[in-house]
Amino acid sequence: MEMRPEDILVPTPAGVCCKRGGFHIDPTRPVEQALITHAHSDHARAGHGAVLATQETLDLMRLRYGDNFAGRTQAIGYGESVTLDGATVTFHPAGHVLGSAQIAVAADGLRIVASGDYKNVADPTCAPFELVPCDVFITEATFALPVFRHPDAEGEIAKLLHSIALFPERAHLVGAYTLGKAQRVIALLRQAGYRAPIYLHGAMESISSYYASRAIDLGELRPVRGASKAELAGAVALCPPSALKEVWTRRFPDPLTAFASGWMRVRARARQYGVELPLVVSDHADWNGLTATIAATGAEEIWVTHGQEDALVHWCGTRGLRARPLDIVGYGDEDESGEGAAGETEQ
Ligand SMILES: [Zn+2]
Ligand SMILES: [Zn+2]
Repeated sequence: MEMRPEDILVPTPAGVCCKRGGFHIDPTRPVEQALITHAHSDHARAGHGAVLATQETLDLMRLRYGDNFAGRTQAIGYGESVTLDGATVTFHPAGHVLGSAQIAVAADGLRIVASGDYKNVADPTCAPFELVPCDVFITEATFALPVFRHPDAEGEIAKLLHSIALFPERAHLVGAYTLGKAQRVIALLRQAGYRAPIYLHGAMESISSYYASRAIDLGELRPVRGASKAELAGAVALCPPSALKEVWTRRFPDPLTAFASGWMRVRARARQYGVELPLVVSDHADWNGLTATIAATGAEEIWVTHGQEDALVHWCGTRGLRARPLDIVGYGDEDESGEGAAGETEQ
């Protein structure tokens, strides 16, 4: 008898569910057994009975939610497999943030890959995306419009360094998502040879220390808290995007505001945040990345979650691929809505 993908994974509004394995992937409500792709708050929630994830994802969840974020936890490495009743699950790097994974679910000769969020470009803070051939590929669609073409991140960082050289007396205040983007911007600055201390909003201190503990070169980091105005002149400081418009910024001398996000391709978004220096740096695949990845998996069926589902489903149709949007409620873009954890707006 022919297996259908739905016999292995069932899309539900709270996330995809594997009935035979007794687990959900990135569930948006508390469940008995959760498999988590990465620690962003829309994918990784507190309150599950058991969580299976990479060690980094578990550690980052513990930092955000406290020691009792789940009843039980089990760490799994990249390339490792676990059999849960009738299904075998294997974790592979997703290239999105530290510890991020694609989860392959195999049963009865059929393989489905839930990729969570991913990008197929280099990032000094995480393992590179691994292409996993499969029958069904579950993809995000955050930047799934042809207008989204992300430039090289190194070139965007060069713009920031150029601005620092042009305005050495101004503080450069860079809005960046707390988990992943902030540390990637810092690591890219270090790779480009910038060695001065970098200042952090309070919401970013513990996650950045964790990244540094995983042998990622972030150089000298200092808290903005307690730094004098004179010390901050000419310095680079990072903060959550929401803080760019807060009174918090008044402690900086003549701040020049930047924002590192794939959304900075859209002028209206940059204006909305009052950003002088938009930096198009994204932790999600752009249109070319999404479509090239979908094609390369060899999957004949594509399930599309959060973002511009319609455009991607349409593209799949033109390529003869079966495709459907998954109407999962509660996934969103971290840059916009993910600032859920305690202490991310105030320092
Ligand atoms: Zn994410
Ligand atoms: Zn997401």
